[in-house]
Amino acid sequence: MQFGEFADTAAEIEELSADTDITERVTRLFAQAGDDLPVLARFVQGRVFPAWSSRTLDIGPNYCYEAIARAAGANVSADDVEDRLAEVGDVGEVAASYDFGGQQGLGAFTGGGAGGAGGGSGGTDANDLTVAEVAVELDALAAAEGSGSQDKKIDVLFALFNRASSAEARYLARLVLSEMRIGVGEGTVRDATADAFEVPVEAVERALQVSNDYGEVARVARDEGESGLAAMDLELGRPVQAMLAQAGTVADALDDWDEAAVEWKYDGARVQIHYDPDGLSWDAADDGADPTRSDATADREVAIFSRNMEDVTDPLPEIAEYVADRLDRPAILDGEVVATEDGDPLPFQEVLRRFRRKHDVARAREEVELDLFAFDCLHAAGEDLLRTPLPERHDRLKSVFDAESESDAEDGSEASAVSSLHITDDPEEIAEIEAEALDAGHEGIMLKNPDSTYSPGRRGKNWLKRKPDVESLDLVVTGAEWGEGRRASFLGTFLLSARVEAGESFETLGKVATGITDEELEELTELLEPHVRKQEGQEVEIAPEVVFEVGYEEIQESPTYSSGYALRFPRFLGVRDDKDPESADSLARVERLADEQ
Ligand code: AMP
Repeated sequence: MQFGEFADTAAEIEELSADTDITERVTRLFAQAGDDLPVLARFVQGRVFPAWSSRTLDIGPNYCYEAIARAAGANVSADDVEDRLAEVGDVGEVAASYDFGGQQGLGAFTGGGAGGAGGGSGGTDANDLTVAEVAVELDALAAAEGSGSQDKKIDVLFALFNRASSAEARYLARLVLSEMRIGVGEGTVRDATADAFEVPVEAVERALQVSNDYGEVARVARDEGESGLAAMDLELGRPVQAMLAQAGTVADALDDWDEAAVEWKYDGARVQIHYDPDGLSWDAADDGADPTRSDATADREVAIFSRNMEDVTDPLPEIAEYVADRLDRPAILDGEVVATEDGDPLPFQEVLRRFRRKHDVARAREEVELDLFAFDCLHAAGEDLLRTPLPERHDRLKSVFDAESESDAEDGSEASAVSSLHITDDPEEIAEIEAEALDAGHEGIMLKNPDSTYSPGRRGKNWLKRKPDVESLDLVVTGAEWGEGRRASFLGTFLLSARVEAGESFETLGKVATGITDEELEELTELLEPHVRKQEGQEVEIAPEVVFEVGYEEIQESPTYSSGYALRFPRFLGVRDDKDPESADSLARVERLADEQ
């Protein structure tokens, strides 16, 4: 396809506002795309490379302005381009406003094309710039490295602009600067692929999840249909998008799922690790269909990708070694890399610094120790596990590591680990896990739906990062219960009350037993025992003297307590030595907070 035809289509799409019209226009583009389909499926989204590829054009806006200026003629400078951009705000508009062509220069004839010599292709003349050529040229631009690479990049771009009509220049400039913005997103491309090649949208969606490659999925949908899409699997070496979490509370988790799978939320950076003892099989260059594919990961046993699917294998040699030492079968792992010092996590910026490190990795490795905490398994020993429920995936994760537990013992390393996944419906147990995570210097906990499968790229309700308690109240202790067993000599559960306006009477609204260490129980018992008024069996009545700060997730109306309210998931946060009961929170405030929820 001529690049001009693509540019005209992009211009048409830009004029449309209804999603259905946009999808329909993209559908027609795909149906006519021929060999250019994989490239067009990306260009139309403003992507140059497949989503799994960590390649970038790596060209700053200023170099792009420079290329535009050179193609626009001797009277135009990069500053002029920038000035115009400041006025119009759209680099496409600016590029389209110049009359390109006819500029001789080092790069004018690269790309093998009919450069604009004798020129004036700007705006009118037919030219022969094709979609495939633009893809190849941009690939070359991305590949330029080392000293003088920016000049090479400018040359390539200049040559392209020099051959472009104004419509072409508009979308070329936007493509290069990742500012396509014609209203075509991933969903549009998914739907248009399904419509153009008459395959179910679910089949397209699944293939996109495993391959992370819009171009390849469109090609397979067209050439091999639904069965071809179904045959697309994860590839060892090709990253998929990470499953994401949204913020949520323990109440959200237990209300929705009855039980929650609870894990520490490690304070580090996300990694996806691909391992195959026989060498990673994904060789992008083999795929043939796509001229931009040259960044294969083949011949390596391990590839590590960041959350943005950047290849971070080289900066993290110890993680690669760790995995290669311990695993003996192919696997794709999801996890967190944490920087530690004497076993304690360092701020996650330390890990990111390691991710970015290109030189002197050996020294960086000595300076900052990294540990891996794997928490999920997407593939094990030839089997894709995306549709396998979480607990089973976690079992598979343990088994890929356990197979090598002997070598674990050999080098005595215990720091790196597989996460512990606790499935429970008990908020207290969840609070304990959270307290342990915080004690160990991590961020808190993740709550996961035990029935959930792995959805790449989705920020859904199946993974919740627990929000800290939204509110806290200062409440008066008006009763308690003696503990049991090991805690029999301590007061254990504390009855909490809110002050009624006058401050002389108190109404109960909950009990707190969570978030208190054994040491604290001893101290609290000493503090409260002198105020005990009455004892009946395990229960004691306490004079309103001591104020606790208590965190909670929600205030509910409830007949259980005399205030008519109850706290959901109350947690002891501390004693308010500085407050007397008269300045504790009032029932009126509790009512107001309940109303505001
Ligand atoms: P956030 O970055 O705040 O959106 O939180 C989600 C991130 O927490 C994930 O992308 C992971 O990098 C990180 N994380 C730490 N521990 C876990 C875990 N056990 N399960 C899932 N994600 C985790």
